[in-house]
Amino acid sequence: MARSKELASVEQRSYWQATMPEIPHRRGGDLPDTADVVVIGGGLTGLSAARRSAELGASTVLLEAESLGWGASTRNGGMCHPGFKHGVSDLVKMHGEAKGTRIYRESIEAYEHVRELCSGSIDADFVQSGHISLAAAPSHAEGMAASAMALGRVDMPAHVVAREDLREEIGTDAYFGGLVVERSAGLHPGKLTAGLVRLADEAGAGLFEGVRANQVRPQADGRKVVETSRGAILAREVIVGTNGYTGGVTPSLRRRIMSIGSFIIVTDPLDPAVAAEVSPRGRMFFDTKNFLYYWRLTPDGRMLFGGRASMWPSSIMHTAEILQRAMVQVHPQLAGVHVAYAWGGRVAFTYDRMVHAGRGRDGVTYAVGCCGSGVAIMPWLGMRMAEWVGGATPPTMTAISFPLVPAPYEGRAWFLPLAGEYWKAKDRRAMAEAERGRTG
Ligand SMILES: Cc1cc2nc3c(=O)[nH]c(=O)nc-3n(C[C@H](O)[C@H](O)[C@H](O)COP(=O)(O)OP(=O)(O)OC[C@H]3O[C@@H](n4cnc5c(N)ncnc54)[C@H](O)[C@@H]3O)c2cc1C
Repeated sequence: MARSKELASVEQRSYWQATMPEIPHRRGGDLPDTADVVVIGGGLTGLSAARRSAELGASTVLLEAESLGWGASTRNGGMCHPGFKHGVSDLVKMHGEAKGTRIYRESIEAYEHVRELCSGSIDADFVQSGHISLAAAPSHAEGMAASAMALGRVDMPAHVVAREDLREEIGTDAYFGGLVVERSAGLHPGKLTAGLVRLADEAGAGLFEGVRANQVRPQADGRKVVETSRGAILAREVIVGTNGYTGGVTPSLRRRIMSIGSFIIVTDPLDPAVAAEVSPRGRMFFDTKNFLYYWRLTPDGRMLFGGRASMWPSSIMHTAEILQRAMVQVHPQLAGVHVAYAWGGRVAFTYDRMVHAGRGRDGVTYAVGCCGSGVAIMPWLGMRMAEWVGGATPPTMTAISFPLVPAPYEGRAWFLPLAGEYWKAKDRRAMAEAERGRTG
């Protein structure tokens, strides 16, 4: 089928990867036989863990099966914010006032950690522009005032924007109100990742690309043998940061993670007047649907528009078509704007929709399961896991149990398309309500 002119000559590559500083290749090179700490996965989590571990004086080896930053870390929306899929009130309901609040505050600490990195040693175009969560149906706006109050109680200034005032925030009439959170930012995730590679290098971590960890075998003395595609390493500690790309090397983590595709398009640079109309305050945007859209302007004034387009296997160009149509539905001003980049990546969802960090029965330490919000929390968790294996107290988050996905599967979550249809049906009901809200 012929493509529309908007989707002709799309580069099927992450815009961030295309515009980030080059990371020198590290293929070849001799793997050591032993290390104090082996880190598996070379994204924000693993790089941050490796950097901190080396800073603490441990001989540290990081193994990345592809290339450094190859995973979600250079493919995301670059929206950096405290918080989880669950809001403060949910966390308090689930864990009690003290623990729930502490867990939320840890996500603020994580955000501040990235902010500090970006105001010091890493230039990643970090701008604290705030974000707005947009009500996709009238009923979705109902709980927003309570959410703003709950956020205020944990030092997260937030306010509700009524439907009639939304044009001050965003150039569309598609939504029914919004919740603005000020302590939230946009950044260039490729630059953040490249910056973490440099810091891990400077700290003395050994970073290896094209090396896959195949198995971790605990030894009687507590050490672990990490079998890799290039030989074995005997390690005192192992930290896993494989998130949406978690595979058979950690079977028990794989049984707790559902890896879901998320997709993004980025347009050519917008006319500055159109950009200012679409996003007058340069906020990060996302809506309240289950199959949510998330969008923002890039630092050079392009529209980045993302979403979980389907739970069924799908091609990048097919999802690009879906996202381009959705973008124009939300912002009719963008009709005819050419899409320059399209790509996808894998997000790790968990059964309780919480990120999890901890230590398994096999003694392996992990931080995985960001549920689509990991730019702030994952580098911090990587750092804290390295400190934990170095003898420090772990964060409160490690005290949450990590549930199994209650369906038998190894690797490919066969039930996801069915679950997807259920969530889509809920979204369709919300959209029908939205239609009534617009006409009635
Ligand atoms: C399209 C998309 C949009 C997103 N948007 C946002 C956003 O706007 N804001 C936000 O907060 N979060 C967002 N996220 C989530 C965010 O990108 C992730 O939480 C974060 O990048 C996770 O970092 P990580 O290092 O844990 O995992 P990754 O960056 O995915 O890295 C994991 C690495 O592990 C490697 N690996 C796996 N198995 C092995 C093995 N056996 N041996 C060696 N290496 C292995 C993989 O090759 C991969 O490079 C988005 C994610 C996607 C996919």
